[in-house]
Amino acid sequence: MKVIFLDLDGVMITGSNQKLSSEYDGYVFTPTSVEHLKQIIDQTGAFIVVTSTYRKAGFSYLKKMFEANGITEGLIGQTPVLAYHSRGREIQQYIDESQLDPSLTVEKFVIIDDHDDMGELMPFLVQTKWHSGLDEEAKNKAIQMLLD
Ligand SMILES: [Mg+2]
Repeated sequence: MKVIFLDLDGVMITGSNQKLSSEYDGYVFTPTSVEHLKQIIDQTGAFIVVTSTYRKAGFSYLKKMFEANGITEGLIGQTPVLAYHSRGREIQQYIDESQLDPSLTVEKFVIIDDHDDMGELMPFLVQTKWHSGLDEEAKNKAIQMLLD
């Protein structure tokens, strides 16, 4: 399957739109980021795995957060939390473990994040900016990488 390893702060939650949600404890997603993420999913059939530290609150919290922001499909998991390891290492572990189940095996992926602690996975990073998040340019790049 195709997977988007998705950060939240600086990607879905941005400096240009700091509003607290009334439905969960945290900030709302920026509408343009939501629109762009949906377009990536529609055009590539990719699924979402969350890499953000918000995942420490648990998968049901993430699910609630995504649904409250209008993303009702595509969220399938989160990367493991490894002490003293980079985000790239956590993503690599998720990919390695996905090989155990053919129906969940990651075949193609992109990482969308405003930081760059991806180690050997740097070539798969689409880097966003805290203020603008998942903008048009990042969306197009992610689609291209997932369809290549
Ligand atoms: Mg971030």
